[in-house]
Amino acid sequence: MNDKQIDLLNLDTHELTGLVQSWNEPVYRVKQLQQWLYHELVDDFDAMSNLPHPLRARLKAATTIGDLKLIATQDSADALTRKALFQMRDGQTVETVLMRYLDAPGSPEDSTDPPNVARRTVCISTQVGCPVGCPFCETGQAGYIRNLTLGEVVAQVLYFAREQKRAGFEMPLTNIVIMGMGEPFMKFNVTWRAIQAFTDPARLGMGARRVTVSTSGYVDGIRQLIEKKSQVNLAVSLHAADDALRDQLVPVNRKYPLRELMNACREYVHATHRRITFEYALMDNVNDSAQQAEQVAQLLAGVLCHVNLIPLNPTSESPYRRSPYARVLEFQRVLNRHNIPTTLRVEKGIEIMAGCGQLRQQVKRHSANVNALPLAT
Ligand code: SAH
Ligand code: SF4
Repeated sequence: MNDKQIDLLNLDTHELTGLVQSWNEPVYRVKQLQQWLYHELVDDFDAMSNLPHPLRARLKAATTIGDLKLIATQDSADALTRKALFQMRDGQTVETVLMRYLDAPGSPEDSTDPPNVARRTVCISTQVGCPVGCPFCETGQAGYIRNLTLGEVVAQVLYFAREQKRAGFEMPLTNIVIMGMGEPFMKFNVTWRAIQAFTDPARLGMGARRVTVSTSGYVDGIRQLIEKKSQVNLAVSLHAADDALRDQLVPVNRKYPLRELMNACREYVHATHRRITFEYALMDNVNDSAQQAEQVAQLLAGVLCHVNLIPLNPTSESPYRRSPYARVLEFQRVLNRHNIPTTLRVEKGIEIMAGCGQLRQQVKRHSANVNALPLAT
Protein backbone atom coordinates (compact mmCIF):
# COMPACT_ATOMS: atom_id res chain seq x y z
CA MET A 1 0.00 0.00 0.00
CA ASN A 2 1.12 3.55 -0.59
CA ASP A 3 -0.24 6.91 0.48
CA LYS A 4 -1.88 7.63 -2.86
CA GLN A 5 -3.89 4.44 -2.98
CA ILE A 6 -7.59 4.75 -2.19
CA ASP A 7 -8.99 2.34 0.37
CA LEU A 8 -12.12 0.95 -1.30
CA LEU A 9 -13.60 0.05 2.10
CA ASN A 10 -13.48 3.72 3.00
CA LEU A 11 -16.03 4.53 0.29
CA ASP A 12 -19.78 4.33 0.67
CA THR A 13 -21.89 3.45 -2.36
CA HIS A 14 -22.18 7.06 -3.47
CA GLU A 15 -18.43 7.62 -3.24
CA LEU A 16 -17.60 4.35 -4.98
CA THR A 17 -19.97 5.36 -7.78
CA GLY A 18 -18.09 8.66 -8.05
CA LEU A 19 -14.78 6.80 -8.39
CA VAL A 20 -16.12 4.38 -10.99
CA GLN A 21 -17.62 7.22 -13.03
CA SER A 22 -14.44 9.27 -12.82
CA TRP A 23 -12.71 6.32 -14.47
CA ASN A 24 -15.35 6.30 -17.25
CA GLU A 25 -16.54 2.86 -16.22
CA PRO A 26 -20.23 1.88 -16.38
CA VAL A 27 -22.11 2.29 -13.10
CA TYR A 28 -22.94 -1.44 -12.89
CA ARG A 29 -19.29 -1.96 -11.94
CA VAL A 30 -20.20 -0.58 -8.51
CA LYS A 31 -22.55 -3.48 -7.87
CA GLN A 32 -20.00 -5.98 -9.15
CA LEU A 33 -17.26 -4.54 -6.98
CA GLN A 34 -19.45 -4.51 -3.86
CA GLN A 35 -20.45 -8.08 -4.57
CA TRP A 36 -16.78 -9.14 -4.58
CA LEU A 37 -15.81 -7.05 -1.58
CA TYR A 38 -18.71 -7.68 0.80
CA HIS A 39 -20.47 -10.87 -0.36
CA GLU A 40 -17.69 -12.96 -1.86
CA LEU A 41 -15.29 -11.41 0.68
CA VAL A 42 -12.31 -11.50 -1.68
CA ASP A 43 -9.16 -9.60 -0.83
CA ASP A 44 -7.51 -10.00 -4.19
CA PHE A 45 -8.39 -8.13 -7.39
CA ASP A 46 -7.34 -11.11 -9.53
CA ALA A 47 -10.30 -13.05 -8.12
CA MET A 48 -12.76 -10.51 -9.55
CA SER A 49 -13.36 -12.60 -12.63
CA ASN A 50 -16.18 -10.56 -14.18
CA LEU A 51 -14.10 -7.37 -14.26
CA PRO A 52 -12.03 -6.74 -17.40
CA HIS A 53 -8.26 -7.13 -16.98
CA PRO A 54 -7.42 -3.45 -17.56
CA LEU A 55 -9.87 -2.43 -14.82
CA ARG A 56 -8.41 -5.00 -12.43
CA ALA A 57 -4.94 -3.66 -13.17
CA ARG A 58 -6.08 -0.11 -12.53
CA LEU A 59 -7.75 -1.09 -9.28
CA LYS A 60 -4.61 -2.90 -8.19
CA ALA A 61 -2.47 0.15 -8.86
CA ALA A 62 -4.75 2.82 -7.48
CA THR A 63 -6.70 1.18 -4.65
CA THR A 64 -6.52 -1.24 -1.74
CA ILE A 65 -9.08 -3.53 -0.14
CA GLY A 66 -8.63 -2.30 3.40
CA ASP A 67 -5.44 -1.10 4.96
CA LEU A 68 -4.89 -3.42 7.90
CA LYS A 69 -1.93 -5.69 8.40
CA LEU A 70 -2.25 -8.47 10.97
CA ILE A 71 0.61 -8.31 13.45
CA ALA A 72 -0.46 -10.48 16.38
CA THR A 73 -3.18 -12.87 17.47
CA GLN A 74 -4.17 -14.35 20.78
CA ASP A 75 -6.61 -17.19 21.48
CA SER A 76 -8.53 -17.93 24.64
CA ALA A 77 -7.85 -21.21 26.42
CA ASP A 78 -11.02 -22.76 24.95
CA ALA A 79 -10.08 -21.53 21.45
CA LEU A 80 -13.48 -19.89 20.98
CA THR A 81 -12.30 -16.32 21.35
CA ARG A 82 -9.58 -14.84 19.20
CA LYS A 83 -8.06 -11.39 19.31
CA ALA A 84 -6.28 -9.83 16.39
CA LEU A 85 -3.98 -6.83 16.47
CA PHE A 86 -3.72 -4.88 13.22
CA GLN A 87 -1.27 -2.26 12.10
CA MET A 88 -2.55 0.60 9.98
CA ARG A 89 -0.93 2.70 7.28
CA ASP A 90 0.53 5.17 9.79
CA GLY A 91 1.96 2.43 12.01
CA GLN A 92 -0.73 2.73 14.71
CA THR A 93 -2.28 -0.48 15.98
CA VAL A 94 -5.84 -1.51 16.72
CA GLU A 95 -7.52 -4.53 18.23
CA THR A 96 -10.46 -6.68 17.09
CA VAL A 97 -11.99 -9.71 18.81
CA LEU A 98 -13.97 -12.67 17.46
CA MET A 99 -16.17 -14.40 20.03
CA ARG A 100 -17.74 -17.71 19.15
CA TYR A 101 -20.45 -19.39 21.20
CA LEU A 102 -21.21 -23.08 21.00
CA ASP A 103 -24.76 -24.36 20.44
CA ALA A 104 -24.44 -26.94 23.12
CA PRO A 105 -21.84 -27.64 25.79
CA GLY A 106 -18.81 -29.35 24.35
CA SER A 107 -15.30 -28.59 23.34
CA PRO A 108 -14.43 -27.30 19.86
CA GLU A 109 -12.36 -30.45 19.38
CA ASP A 110 -15.45 -32.68 19.44
CA SER A 111 -17.34 -30.58 17.00
CA THR A 112 -18.08 -31.06 13.36
CA ASP A 113 -16.68 -29.10 10.45
CA PRO A 114 -17.78 -26.31 10.43
CA PRO A 115 -17.86 -26.52 14.20
CA ASN A 116 -21.04 -26.35 16.15
CA VAL A 117 -20.86 -22.63 16.69
CA ALA A 118 -24.19 -20.84 17.06
CA ARG A 119 -23.02 -17.26 17.22
CA ARG A 120 -19.97 -15.62 15.75
CA THR A 121 -19.68 -12.09 17.02
CA VAL A 122 -16.96 -9.67 16.03
CA CYS A 123 -16.09 -6.85 18.42
CA ILE A 124 -14.57 -3.89 16.60
CA SER A 125 -12.71 -0.72 17.55
CA THR A 126 -13.41 2.84 16.43
CA GLN A 127 -10.40 4.72 17.81
CA VAL A 128 -6.72 4.21 18.61
CA GLY A 129 -6.80 4.66 22.37
CA CYS A 130 -9.72 6.54 23.87
CA PRO A 131 -10.02 10.12 25.12
CA VAL A 132 -12.66 9.23 27.74
CA GLY A 133 -9.95 7.76 29.96
CA CYS A 134 -11.86 5.39 32.24
CA PRO A 135 -9.31 4.37 34.89
CA PHE A 136 -10.21 0.65 34.90
CA CYS A 137 -9.89 0.31 31.10
CA GLU A 138 -6.66 -0.58 29.34
CA THR A 139 -7.58 1.46 26.27
CA GLY A 140 -8.52 4.47 28.36
CA GLN A 141 -5.23 4.30 30.21
CA ALA A 142 -3.17 4.03 27.03
CA GLY A 143 -4.08 7.58 25.95
CA TYR A 144 -5.81 8.75 22.82
CA ILE A 145 -4.16 8.87 19.41
CA ARG A 146 -6.82 9.21 16.69
CA ASN A 147 -10.15 8.15 15.24
CA LEU A 148 -10.26 5.31 12.77
CA THR A 149 -11.44 5.83 9.22
CA LEU A 150 -14.53 4.09 7.87
CA GLY A 151 -12.26 1.76 5.91
CA GLU A 152 -10.29 0.81 9.03
CA VAL A 153 -13.50 0.01 10.91
CA VAL A 154 -15.02 -2.05 8.09
CA ALA A 155 -11.77 -3.92 7.40
CA GLN A 156 -11.80 -5.34 10.95
CA VAL A 157 -15.15 -6.98 10.27
CA LEU A 158 -14.10 -8.25 6.85
CA TYR A 159 -10.96 -9.86 8.26
CA PHE A 160 -12.97 -12.14 10.55
CA ALA A 161 -15.77 -12.59 8.02
CA ARG A 162 -13.21 -14.01 5.57
CA GLU A 163 -11.73 -16.22 8.27
CA GLN A 164 -15.12 -17.66 9.22
CA LYS A 165 -16.08 -18.10 5.59
CA ARG A 166 -12.93 -20.14 5.08
CA ALA A 167 -13.97 -22.19 8.13
CA GLY A 168 -17.09 -23.16 6.17
CA PHE A 169 -19.82 -20.86 7.47
CA GLU A 170 -22.29 -19.71 4.87
CA MET A 171 -23.17 -16.73 7.07
CA PRO A 172 -19.68 -15.92 8.31
CA LEU A 173 -20.67 -13.56 11.14
CA THR A 174 -23.91 -13.46 13.09
CA ASN A 175 -23.35 -10.28 15.13
CA ILE A 176 -21.21 -7.16 15.17
CA VAL A 177 -20.58 -5.25 18.39
CA ILE A 178 -18.95 -1.82 18.31
CA MET A 179 -17.41 -2.28 21.73
CA GLY A 180 -13.68 -2.44 21.20
CA MET A 181 -11.16 0.34 21.63
CA GLY A 182 -12.57 3.85 21.63
CA GLU A 183 -15.78 5.82 22.12
CA PRO A 184 -17.86 5.23 18.98
CA PHE A 185 -20.05 8.32 19.38
CA MET A 186 -17.17 10.78 19.50
CA LYS A 187 -17.06 10.65 15.76
CA PHE A 188 -20.68 9.75 15.15
CA ASN A 189 -20.47 10.14 11.42
CA VAL A 190 -17.83 7.43 10.95
CA THR A 191 -19.68 5.04 13.26
CA TRP A 192 -22.93 5.70 11.43
CA ARG A 193 -21.32 5.13 8.04
CA ALA A 194 -19.89 1.86 9.37
CA ILE A 195 -23.33 0.78 10.60
CA GLN A 196 -24.65 1.51 7.11
CA ALA A 197 -21.88 -0.61 5.55
CA PHE A 198 -22.86 -3.49 7.87
CA THR A 199 -26.59 -3.26 7.24
CA ASP A 200 -26.84 -2.11 3.59
CA PRO A 201 -27.98 -5.14 1.52
CA ALA A 202 -25.53 -4.17 -1.24
CA ARG A 203 -22.70 -4.45 1.26
CA LEU A 204 -22.69 -6.77 4.35
CA GLY A 205 -26.48 -6.82 4.58
CA MET A 206 -26.75 -7.77 8.25
CA GLY A 207 -29.98 -7.16 10.12
CA ALA A 208 -29.71 -3.97 12.19
CA ARG A 209 -30.72 -5.94 15.26
CA ARG A 210 -27.56 -7.97 14.91
CA VAL A 211 -25.46 -4.83 15.39
CA THR A 212 -24.79 -3.27 18.80
CA VAL A 213 -23.08 0.02 19.56
CA SER A 214 -21.76 0.72 23.06
CA THR A 215 -21.22 4.22 24.37
CA SER A 216 -19.73 5.54 27.58
CA GLY A 217 -22.61 8.04 27.64
CA TYR A 218 -22.12 10.48 24.78
CA VAL A 219 -25.54 12.05 24.95
CA ASP A 220 -24.98 13.82 21.64
CA GLY A 221 -24.44 10.51 19.88
CA ILE A 222 -27.48 8.92 21.53
CA ARG A 223 -29.59 11.79 20.19
CA GLN A 224 -28.09 11.45 16.71
CA LEU A 225 -28.83 7.74 16.76
CA ILE A 226 -32.45 8.50 17.69
CA GLU A 227 -32.69 10.77 14.64
CA LYS A 228 -31.50 7.97 12.37
CA LYS A 229 -34.45 5.82 13.48
CA SER A 230 -32.14 2.85 13.35
CA GLN A 231 -32.94 -0.57 14.79
CA VAL A 232 -29.36 -1.22 15.98
CA ASN A 233 -28.97 -2.13 19.65
CA LEU A 234 -27.72 0.51 22.04
CA ALA A 235 -25.55 -0.33 25.05
CA VAL A 236 -24.61 2.29 27.63
CA SER A 237 -21.68 1.81 30.01
CA LEU A 238 -23.11 2.84 33.36
CA HIS A 239 -20.73 1.48 36.03
CA ALA A 240 -22.06 3.86 38.72
CA ALA A 241 -25.46 5.31 39.62
CA ASP A 242 -24.23 8.44 41.38
CA ASP A 243 -22.48 11.36 39.72
CA ALA A 244 -19.55 11.60 42.15
CA LEU A 245 -18.46 8.00 41.53
CA ARG A 246 -19.30 8.05 37.82
CA ASP A 247 -17.23 11.23 37.37
CA GLN A 248 -14.28 9.09 38.47
CA LEU A 249 -15.07 5.82 36.71
CA VAL A 250 -16.43 7.19 33.41
CA PRO A 251 -15.05 10.74 33.18
CA VAL A 252 -17.35 11.72 30.31
CA ASN A 253 -19.93 11.95 33.11
CA ARG A 254 -18.50 15.39 33.95
CA LYS A 255 -19.72 16.56 30.56
CA TYR A 256 -22.94 14.55 30.47
CA PRO A 257 -24.06 13.81 34.04
CA LEU A 258 -26.48 11.01 34.89
CA ARG A 259 -29.61 13.15 34.71
CA GLU A 260 -28.83 14.17 31.13
CA LEU A 261 -27.76 10.67 30.22
CA MET A 262 -30.94 9.12 31.59
CA ASN A 263 -33.09 11.72 29.83
CA ALA A 264 -31.45 10.79 26.52
CA CYS A 265 -31.94 7.08 27.29
CA ARG A 266 -35.62 7.63 28.03
CA GLU A 267 -35.97 9.57 24.76
CA TYR A 268 -34.29 6.71 22.93
CA VAL A 269 -36.69 4.13 24.35
CA HIS A 270 -39.66 6.38 23.67
CA ALA A 271 -38.61 6.95 20.05
CA THR A 272 -37.44 3.45 19.15
CA HIS A 273 -39.32 1.15 21.57
CA ARG A 274 -36.01 -0.68 21.86
CA ARG A 275 -34.59 -1.97 25.11
CA ILE A 276 -31.27 -0.45 26.20
CA THR A 277 -28.49 -2.60 27.63
CA PHE A 278 -26.67 -0.98 30.55
CA GLU A 279 -23.22 -2.38 31.13
CA TYR A 280 -21.97 -2.48 34.69
CA ALA A 281 -18.43 -3.67 35.42
CA LEU A 282 -18.30 -4.83 39.04
CA MET A 283 -15.25 -3.58 40.91
CA ASP A 284 -14.34 -4.80 44.36
CA ASN A 285 -15.47 -2.30 47.04
CA VAL A 286 -15.91 0.45 44.48
CA ASN A 287 -19.35 0.04 42.90
CA ASP A 288 -20.54 -3.40 44.00
CA SER A 289 -22.41 -3.00 47.30
CA ALA A 290 -26.06 -3.96 47.78
CA GLN A 291 -26.80 -0.31 48.48
CA GLN A 292 -25.24 0.67 45.15
CA ALA A 293 -27.39 -1.98 43.48
CA GLU A 294 -30.43 -0.27 45.03
CA GLN A 295 -29.25 3.04 43.53
CA VAL A 296 -28.94 1.42 40.11
CA ALA A 297 -32.45 0.01 40.47
CA GLN A 298 -33.81 3.46 41.32
CA LEU A 299 -31.99 5.12 38.46
CA LEU A 300 -33.30 2.60 35.93
CA ALA A 301 -36.82 2.32 37.29
CA GLY A 302 -39.35 2.59 34.47
CA VAL A 303 -36.73 2.45 31.69
CA LEU A 304 -37.06 -0.41 29.21
CA CYS A 305 -33.68 -1.98 29.80
CA HIS A 306 -31.52 -4.85 30.75
CA VAL A 307 -28.33 -4.79 32.83
CA ASN A 308 -25.25 -6.66 31.75
CA LEU A 309 -23.12 -7.34 34.83
CA ILE A 310 -19.45 -7.79 33.97
CA PRO A 311 -17.02 -8.92 36.66
CA LEU A 312 -14.10 -6.54 36.06
CA ASN A 313 -11.21 -7.84 34.02
CA PRO A 314 -8.35 -6.31 36.01
CA THR A 315 -5.83 -4.44 33.87
CA SER A 316 -2.11 -4.40 34.38
CA GLU A 317 -1.78 -0.92 35.80
CA SER A 318 -5.06 -0.05 37.47
CA PRO A 319 -5.75 -0.55 41.18
CA TYR A 320 -9.28 -1.85 40.51
CA ARG A 321 -10.00 -5.49 41.24
CA ARG A 322 -12.79 -7.88 40.29
CA SER A 323 -15.66 -8.21 42.78
CA PRO A 324 -15.90 -11.51 44.63
CA TYR A 325 -18.48 -13.75 42.98
CA ALA A 326 -20.80 -13.76 46.02
CA ARG A 327 -21.08 -9.98 45.82
CA VAL A 328 -21.77 -10.15 42.09
CA LEU A 329 -24.64 -12.55 42.77
CA GLU A 330 -25.99 -10.33 45.55
CA PHE A 331 -25.88 -7.31 43.24
CA GLN A 332 -27.79 -9.29 40.65
CA ARG A 333 -30.38 -10.42 43.22
CA VAL A 334 -31.09 -6.81 44.21
CA LEU A 335 -31.70 -5.78 40.61
CA ASN A 336 -33.86 -8.81 39.93
CA ARG A 337 -35.91 -8.07 43.05
CA HIS A 338 -36.69 -4.71 41.42
CA ASN A 339 -37.70 -6.54 38.23
CA ILE A 340 -34.68 -5.36 36.30
CA PRO A 341 -33.53 -8.14 33.98
CA THR A 342 -29.82 -8.92 34.17
CA THR A 343 -27.24 -11.12 32.56
CA LEU A 344 -23.93 -12.05 34.01
CA ARG A 345 -21.10 -12.19 31.49
CA VAL A 346 -19.23 -15.32 32.43
CA GLU A 347 -18.09 -16.61 29.06
CA LYS A 348 -14.63 -18.06 29.12
CA GLY A 349 -13.46 -15.60 26.49
CA ILE A 350 -13.70 -12.90 29.14
CA GLU A 351 -10.04 -13.27 29.99
CA ILE A 352 -9.10 -11.81 26.64
CA MET A 353 -12.30 -10.00 25.75
CA ALA A 354 -13.15 -7.44 28.41
CA GLY A 355 -10.93 -4.44 28.44
CA CYS A 356 -10.15 -4.41 24.77
CA GLY A 357 -6.74 -2.80 24.34
CA GLN A 358 -4.87 -5.37 26.36
CA LEU A 359 -3.32 -7.21 23.44
CA ARG A 360 -2.08 -3.90 22.07
CA GLN A 361 -0.40 -3.15 25.38
CA GLN A 362 1.04 -6.66 25.66
CA VAL A 363 2.62 -6.42 22.24
CA LYS A 364 4.08 -3.05 23.20
CA ARG A 365 5.55 -4.67 26.30
CA HIS A 366 6.76 -7.71 24.29
CA SER A 367 4.85 -10.21 26.38
CA ALA A 368 5.54 -13.86 25.61
CA ASN A 369 1.86 -14.75 25.84
CA VAL A 370 0.92 -13.63 22.33
CA ASN A 371 1.66 -14.96 18.87
CA ALA A 372 3.38 -11.87 17.62
CA LEU A 373 3.93 -11.92 13.88
CA PRO A 374 6.83 -9.97 12.39
CA LEU A 375 6.12 -6.24 12.50
CA ALA A 376 5.34 -4.59 9.22
CA THR A 377 8.25 -2.73 7.72
N1 SAH B 1 -16.06 2.99 24.77
C1 SAH B 1 -17.27 2.31 24.73
C2 SAH B 1 -17.18 0.94 24.09
C3 SAH B 1 -15.97 0.12 24.34
S1 SAH B 1 -15.71 -0.54 25.95
C4 SAH B 1 -17.85 2.16 26.11
O1 SAH B 1 -17.15 2.45 27.07
O2 SAH B 1 -19.01 1.80 26.21
C5 SAH B 1 -16.83 -1.92 26.07
C6 SAH B 1 -17.25 -2.23 27.50
O3 SAH B 1 -16.18 -2.83 28.25
C7 SAH B 1 -17.63 -0.98 28.27
O4 SAH B 1 -18.80 -1.20 29.03
C8 SAH B 1 -16.44 -0.78 29.17
O5 SAH B 1 -16.75 0.02 30.26
C9 SAH B 1 -16.08 -2.20 29.50
N2 SAH B 1 -14.72 -2.38 30.04
C10 SAH B 1 -13.63 -1.65 29.77
N3 SAH B 1 -12.57 -2.12 30.49
C11 SAH B 1 -13.03 -3.16 31.20
C12 SAH B 1 -12.43 -4.06 32.11
N4 SAH B 1 -11.15 -3.96 32.42
N5 SAH B 1 -13.21 -5.02 32.65
C13 SAH B 1 -14.52 -5.13 32.32
N6 SAH B 1 -15.14 -4.32 31.47
C14 SAH B 1 -14.41 -3.34 30.91
FE1 SF4 C 1 -12.99 4.56 26.37
FE2 SF4 C 1 -14.91 2.73 26.76
FE3 SF4 C 1 -12.41 2.36 27.72
FE4 SF4 C 1 -13.97 4.21 28.82
S1 SF4 C 1 -14.34 1.98 28.79
S2 SF4 C 1 -11.82 4.48 28.24
S3 SF4 C 1 -15.06 4.95 27.04
S4 SF4 C 1 -12.99 2.46 25.59
